[in-house]
Amino acid sequence: MYDGNYLAHKLRAASLGREDAIFLKNHQTGEAVSYKSFFDNAERMAKVLVSCGVKPGDRVAVQAPKTQAMLELYVGSVLAGAVFLPLNPAYTGSELEYFLGDAEPRLLVCEPTSVETLTPIANERGVQHVLTIAADEAGSLTLARDAQTAGFMAVDRDQNDLAAILYTSGTTGRSKGAMLTHLCLASNSETLKDYWHFDKTDVLIHALPIFHTHGLFVATNITLMAGASCIFLAKFDANVVRDCMKDATALMGVPTFYVRLLEVEALAESTKNMRLFVSGSAPLLAETHDRWRALTGHAILERYGMTETNMNTSNPYEGERRAGTVGLPLPGVDVIVTDPHTGAEVAQCDVGILEVRGPNVFAGYWRMPEKTAEELRDNGFFITGDMAEMSDDGYVSIVGRAKDLIISGGLNVYPKEIELVIDAVEGVTESAVIGIPDPDFGEAVVAVVVLDRNASLSSEKLLAKIAPDLASFKHPKRVIFVEELVRNTMGKVQKNTLRMRYA
Ligand code: AMP
Repeated sequence: MYDGNYLAHKLRAASLGREDAIFLKNHQTGEAVSYKSFFDNAERMAKVLVSCGVKPGDRVAVQAPKTQAMLELYVGSVLAGAVFLPLNPAYTGSELEYFLGDAEPRLLVCEPTSVETLTPIANERGVQHVLTIAADEAGSLTLARDAQTAGFMAVDRDQNDLAAILYTSGTTGRSKGAMLTHLCLASNSETLKDYWHFDKTDVLIHALPIFHTHGLFVATNITLMAGASCIFLAKFDANVVRDCMKDATALMGVPTFYVRLLEVEALAESTKNMRLFVSGSAPLLAETHDRWRALTGHAILERYGMTETNMNTSNPYEGERRAGTVGLPLPGVDVIVTDPHTGAEVAQCDVGILEVRGPNVFAGYWRMPEKTAEELRDNGFFITGDMAEMSDDGYVSIVGRAKDLIISGGLNVYPKEIELVIDAVEGVTESAVIGIPDPDFGEAVVAVVVLDRNASLSSEKLLAKIAPDLASFKHPKRVIFVEELVRNTMGKVQKNTLRMRYA
């Protein structure tokens, strides 16, 4: 029934004929949801969408809590040939105004508590239907779903049709809608499933949010495509995740998960049944990698990707998982490092901008042809904006974002290089190095540092310790000690916030 729909067909193939196999164990409700029951509900969701007038290519916007119903809606939207548009629940009304105005969805799904505020905003922007999903799976959308019968002929969609739009975090200017096709989602998850050896015996701990590429596409699509199961958690809690490990085989997380898990009791014992720990979305400190390995015997597998490209590189399943690197280009993905000024490839091992090309790369930014032309070259390479270097044997290391590059006294300073030296000092937990406006240097290097719980270190002592390892123009002009670094839900340090705070 899904044959003519490129992505839906791929999401369903592995579970056909295994209708009673469990797709999802809902940790909150205790319910074990079979593949049949999940896809039946996704078909009901597709029928609800059609009854709301959703036509192929229409956008379906969702700002809802992480629920099973939201996952069903995602697959239902694919079946209906619509374009799924998940939004971070942290966005406020005025941010929503922008997204709804820009994407012009046919339908908005939100939490019951937001419906009063959001309905007028949505209606003003031409959104005709507002339905709800609550954290406990109740809501008007779930009711409408239950009033439908299963059975839906998936709308034909080919590989170049859009399946989703995900807005980028927009730290530089307006948030941009990345247009993701059936092919870029399907091809990437298929590659990762094989690369990371997922099959129907796997049980993934799903503790990531599902408004973001990592939890929605990497975690969910791989589970479906492998015909595997997941333990579905509404949010990350280190003790709960540790307890789930005895019934699971794999975890996908952001670095913060691993840092928090290292603090819980009886971790090593709990990981005995696990075969794979994946980290991504933000840099995993080599120290975290090493501590995890020493304690559990497992080497965390770090991968690198972004909203616009899905995943690009990964440390190998078999072979060396090199701490501090994001591994090798995935099969079918071309990766080059180029000079930010000329666009020419730099010499091996030199730092430059990472560019990627492959079926995983998005189709451009929604209604922003100029932005698309700036970042997506005619030859298919996407300019990621990440600064990186590639070792002789092909391992990629991300050294920071191009926009985080500090130019102090006319010289380029890569924050990551300084952070690595600071992080190696005894008593330091982690650090973030930023540039702040300075009348003398243009930008001055400032280090924001978190110390270990019982450590005491003055800024003079810290500076004296790092001085021998760094050229003087890289020395921080100021050290600021903080309790913790500001991060977003995906574990990314918010350097913008730090820059504003300390300017
Ligand atoms: P997003 O589009 O929200 O997924 O953010 C993508 C950005 O996260 C990338 O451009 C990188 O800057 C960063 N990122 C993702 N994975 C990693 C990683 N393993 N190491 C370092 N940075 C990463």
